[in-house]
Amino acid sequence: MDKVLLDYGSGGRASHRFVADLFFRHLGNDILARMDDAAVLSLTGPVAMSTDSFVVDPVFFPGGDIGSLAVHGTVNDVAMMGARPLFLTCGFILEEGLPLADLDRIVASMGEAARAAGVRIVAGDTKVVPKGAADKIFINTTGIGEVLVDPAPSGHRAAVGDAVLVSGSMGDHGLAILSTRQGLSFEAPVTSDSACLSGLVGRLLAAVPDVHVLRDPTRGGLATTLNEIAGQSGVGIELTQAAIPVRPAVAGGCAVLGLDPLYLANEGKCICIVPEAAALAALDAMRADPLGVEAAVIGRVVAEHPGKVALVTPLGGKRLLGMLEGEQLPRIC
Ligand code: MG
Repeated sequence: MDKVLLDYGSGGRASHRFVADLFFRHLGNDILARMDDAAVLSLTGPVAMSTDSFVVDPVFFPGGDIGSLAVHGTVNDVAMMGARPLFLTCGFILEEGLPLADLDRIVASMGEAARAAGVRIVAGDTKVVPKGAADKIFINTTGIGEVLVDPAPSGHRAAVGDAVLVSGSMGDHGLAILSTRQGLSFEAPVTSDSACLSGLVGRLLAAVPDVHVLRDPTRGGLATTLNEIAGQSGVGIELTQAAIPVRPAVAGGCAVLGLDPLYLANEGKCICIVPEAAALAALDAMRADPLGVEAAVIGRVVAEHPGKVALVTPLGGKRLLGMLEGEQLPRIC
């Protein structure tokens, strides 16, 4: 009984009960406990909904694991719409032979992350596939939350003159995953920033309800995400390289590996674009949150080069930051 068996997903009674116990023990709440075919939820007003699948390799990494990441990733996407995340569903694809101790640790981590984020997991599903048909564990989560502001932040709302902020340092998650996978170690340890941003977003919206854009720079990093926003809004974005927070350990690791931290994934940071007049209020609100102490104003929205992102280097040169080409790091989240 120490590994996931094929019949755990197909209704063998004792083993099925064992797996159900494991999930209920860590994720249980009054809605999940009803065991009906679907959860019945009460929400008012506009609702934000998002879904994401998590296939990160390795499943345990410095600063988190696939379980907490599966909560943070979806909760953060819901929060980026100016919403308070409330409910999650989760679907598990388990590979036959996965140690039950690993599964227990992952599901416990999910439960902890969900409680900390103030969301309830209200529906779930487990499938087991034969050894080799999946790699250990894949998790899909879908989240919904109530939108707190009108109009909601959107990638289409960046306006010329707006200030561009980030909530903290860039590239931590991507480099933590890559270095763990490759067995590399740097002078200072590099830890994933995987975290739930809904508290920080709540503070930000309370201080500045008219946030034009909120987005988490996950796969493709800051550079790719800002290119998406520039394209959606039909504006240019100009960044001041020296203002972009990058931890020395991440900058050093990237230099060794030939990577650019502006293209590495983040899992606990957001980009925030606000009217220039609200930039300091937004900065103060983010810095007041434990996850935003390194928040910074990093650039502005400009009329020039619409759809493109330019970086002003410390020597005053200017170069375009394109979208990430191809897949820099597969299975990063
Ligand atoms: Mg996102």
